[in-house]
Amino acid sequence: MFQKILIANRGEIALRVQRACRELGIPSVAVHSTADAAAMHVRLADESVCIGPPPARESYLNTVAILSAATITGADAIHPGYGFLSENAEFAEMVEAHGLTFIGPTPAHIRMMGDKIEAKRVMQAHGVPLVPGSTEAIMEFAKAQRLASELGYPVLIKAAAGGGGRGMQVAHDADELEERLTLARAEALAGFGNDAVYLEKYLDRPRHIELQVLADEAGHVVHLGERDCSLQRRHQKLLEEAGSPALTPTERDALGARVTAALASIGYRNAGTLEFLYQDGEFAFIEMNTRLQVEHPVSETITGIDIVREQIRIAAGEALGYGQDDIRFTGHAIECRVNAENPVTFAPSPGRVAAYHPPGGLGVRVDSALYAGSVVTPYYDSLVAKLIVHASTRAEAISRLARAIDEFAVIGIETTLPLFRRIADSADFRAGSYNVHWLERFVAGTA
Ligand code: ADP
Repeated sequence: MFQKILIANRGEIALRVQRACRELGIPSVAVHSTADAAAMHVRLADESVCIGPPPARESYLNTVAILSAATITGADAIHPGYGFLSENAEFAEMVEAHGLTFIGPTPAHIRMMGDKIEAKRVMQAHGVPLVPGSTEAIMEFAKAQRLASELGYPVLIKAAAGGGGRGMQVAHDADELEERLTLARAEALAGFGNDAVYLEKYLDRPRHIELQVLADEAGHVVHLGERDCSLQRRHQKLLEEAGSPALTPTERDALGARVTAALASIGYRNAGTLEFLYQDGEFAFIEMNTRLQVEHPVSETITGIDIVREQIRIAAGEALGYGQDDIRFTGHAIECRVNAENPVTFAPSPGRVAAYHPPGGLGVRVDSALYAGSVVTPYYDSLVAKLIVHASTRAEAISRLARAIDEFAVIGIETTLPLFRRIADSADFRAGSYNVHWLERFVAGTA
């Protein structure tokens, strides 16, 4: 097992990883920018190192500063959390070149899945169905036009190196296609340094359903069930559930068997998530994330498995020690991503938290680095808390969610809690009848 783990992240996820380290008896090192000197992940750390000024590119993305911090503190492994360097294959290689362990998949797998076209090709070759579209880069308009008329409009243009819901363009007809293609390529180049794009049929009412997997070095692969992440705004998830209200246990088992077999045959290891669109009873793969996901707690909640602990154990070479049949799914879990934003306009709301009172009671978990007096700066992601509830049925989980939101007090900054309270009351949500387009309409008052 590791002697000391450096956590290359901030906020709630740095705390989350710190908690797993502490329970395993492993000291950890926090890193922080000057803007985060008083942050909770630093205050609770065993040790901390300042790695640069506020802009992420000079601190949390500063690979040299992070590796130096690991070296001077004697860390022998690095956990990247999510975001920042978590899907950066070069960073994972640098970590290994310095004789440290990267807590995550191999650089080769990070690179393979980081190219979304390559990821689709690999999954297709292993019998996983795809969203209809191209499995090669589409750079010329004529080719795009040919493919789009084959697929039928609307089509979605996506960046091969894309992520975070950015760089996607819908073209509703042939007239729009050329302009959208140019725009998508320019955005991809500016956002990801790579202008390769591909085309997919734009589905009109899919659900986003993803499968959490864990794989050890000996080749054992299990899944922890599905998460339904269809409640999205601008292609970014806001609320996630485990399991999906749309899926039967038989469908889950069939998808799980196919996915774990595919991952075993490519030799994948550590945690990962395969994302699918689900419409009319069919699954279609869209991408794989080779890291811990923001929404991992809902899977932990229904399985009782600590995913971060498992990531650390797997990276240290330990065997999973259990098989698929040992994993039981209990009850229903819902997570809300509470952002420091106006709940109507979604304008960022940085500032000082004057008072803070998280909810409690049976089946309530809050993952947050907020405290009374903490400052939400404008430099980073606006996620400030994750509220996770668990109950034996979905209906009870929704009642618990509403009750927990009513208890949750964050004074001094605006948060999206009132939006989640409205969602919890909505008839569509209660009925589980929503797709990836529903929340935008709900927010606009047209759902
Ligand atoms: P990113 O990596 O940027 O998150 P994804 O490929 O995971 O992009 O897609 C993000 C979201 O965009 C999906 O959850 C879904 O809501 C929407 N989306 C992606 N592909 C399609 C598609 N072919 N049709 C309709 N919606 C899509």
